[in-house]
Amino acid sequence: MEKQFVQITSQNCHNCGASVHVSSNTDNLKCEYCETQIRILRPVKMNEESMLGKLNDEEMKKYRNMLTILENSMKAGNFKEGYDYCNKALEVDPTSSEIWENKAICSFWLSTKRDVFSTQAKEIVTYLNTAKSYDANSKTLPITSKNIAWDLYSLGYVWLHSVMPYNDKGNYSWTDCDNMFEYVKLWDTAFDIYNETKFLKDAVIEFNGNQGAKINWQDKNAIQRYPTQKLKETYIKKIQKIEPSYVPPEAESGWCFIATATMGSYDHPEVMELRNFRDNWILDKKWGEGFVAWYYHYGSIAAKSIEKSFVLKKICYLFVVKPLVYLSRIIK
Ligand SMILES: [Zn+2]
Repeated sequence: MEKQFVQITSQNCHNCGASVHVSSNTDNLKCEYCETQIRILRPVKMNEESMLGKLNDEEMKKYRNMLTILENSMKAGNFKEGYDYCNKALEVDPTSSEIWENKAICSFWLSTKRDVFSTQAKEIVTYLNTAKSYDANSKTLPITSKNIAWDLYSLGYVWLHSVMPYNDKGNYSWTDCDNMFEYVKLWDTAFDIYNETKFLKDAVIEFNGNQGAKINWQDKNAIQRYPTQKLKETYIKKIQKIEPSYVPPEAESGWCFIATATMGSYDHPEVMELRNFRDNWILDKKWGEGFVAWYYHYGSIAAKSIEKSFVLKKICYLFVVKPLVYLSRIIK
């Protein structure tokens, strides 16, 4: 029997928890409260067919009830109960692909507690793989996998960007950095579930510290603490397996967002001049590191607006980049 999804009428936003209305033919939508992209995770319809002839009438009745509760609890958004009933049903039929698939969905919803997330995500991968091993041709599994992967990616993204620095210099605590590191790694897990190269390309940009990155992973303290270089290389290899022509962006050495956004290129001579100015003069000063950290945080935010506006570009060139270049020339 071909597998089908159960229709649902609402789903919670995995970021803010708001209940969002789901129409029957949508697969993705935007939370109207927090604007997070949401992929719809529908439960897979259960049937007792696989156990026909293996259970007696009494057992069959019990199993059928079990599956009904499983399906209904998931439909109602009670994933704790859904998860428990998946386990009960798997005791009866451990080779049911659709139960494993439903267990993966429940596991996704139960694992949104940040500190346990990195291990829980591995659990989801295991359940999806198990589901696949029992039915490689499932019609529902590729859709569920794709949607879970996108949801994991967007969770990692919103969590990463919701971490705030503890001071106005834009510094983050090591605990926050440890968490942010885990959030970026979630994109790799998402990729393992569904081979969307965007997940890993974003991780490369993040660890490179390119424009749009949350923090400067290239910072000399961060680089000692986190194996970002090694991870980046494995990400690049994974991407190139799918897109052989992919060329990773050059690693950013830290700032010059505004100058880069204004001039439109990281390699513009005046941008390069400013970069040297930072490395050889500003960073030499006592206040230099704090200033660069502060600039790194706020500069990257400003750069996003500048990039989009021609007028802002001109203003920035005249009043920010030009004077800085001029200053750097007289100081040296
Ligand atoms: Zn939301």
